[in-house]
Amino acid sequence: MLDIAALEKSFGDVKALSGINLSIQEGEVVCLLGPSGSGKSTLLRSINLLERPDSGRIGIHARGAGFDLAFGPTHRGVGGRELARLRSHVGMVFQHFNLWPHKMAIENVTEGLLRVRHQTGLEAGNAATRLLARVGLGAKLTAFPNHLSGGQRQRVAIARALAMKPDIMLFDEPTSALDPELVGEVLQVLEDVAASGMTMLVATHEMGFARKVADRVIFMDGGQIVEIATAEEFFERPKHERSIRFLEAVL
Ligand code: ADP
Ligand code: MG
Repeated sequence: MLDIAALEKSFGDVKALSGINLSIQEGEVVCLLGPSGSGKSTLLRSINLLERPDSGRIGIHARGAGFDLAFGPTHRGVGGRELARLRSHVGMVFQHFNLWPHKMAIENVTEGLLRVRHQTGLEAGNAATRLLARVGLGAKLTAFPNHLSGGQRQRVAIARALAMKPDIMLFDEPTSALDPELVGEVLQVLEDVAASGMTMLVATHEMGFARKVADRVIFMDGGQIVEIATAEEFFERPKHERSIRFLEAVL
């Protein structure tokens, strides 16, 4: 479903991504682990082109959609229309929710369905109602974000991303901004989404979640992938010294 080859990205002197090679199969749940500054966000943001890689290739192949993007000095990447098409296949959920503050929960979910998918108000409203119920917010359809808890806001953001029926969902530390008592309800929704068969790439510091839900774990450090392993292998028998040190520090 997702093929990344030789991906590189620098910010000035900082090499945020270096020689990233990675393939994810349909239906796989992959957790992206690593210390702060290791390049997790840059990798996720590169996949839906919120960042433009300096060089390398990204391929996304799903349900009749095919993207083979090459980056480099002579490759401009993609234009606006292609970008919109790519993003409609790749859903993203951010640490800070990024809801529209002046729209109700249901409007946050219907917006993309109306504007991008050109659904009727009735279709979009029905889909949004169903999805908000699925994330446990059936009673909060008309609530504005500032009347919702952080966990509820993040669940709206997840419903909004799911509404677009993406082929792959990217999550960038979806629980890091939450009070500890609200983390569980969001992880439960992530687990439900995983169980539905969605292909997911999740940057997280929740080791219990990674161990339980991930098929594979990618450990990054200093802009590089240090180790790719099954969740069991990674947590039981990490191979690299840096992985071992990381696990000792966080577990
Ligand atoms: P992580 O998500 O693992 O914490 P990031 O991908 O955010 O790591 O960052 C990787 C490196 O790239 C860090 O050194 C960070 O400071 C740098 N970086 C990320 N985004 C930018 C940016 N927009 N401008 C400059 N440096 C950046
Ligand atoms: Mg990050």
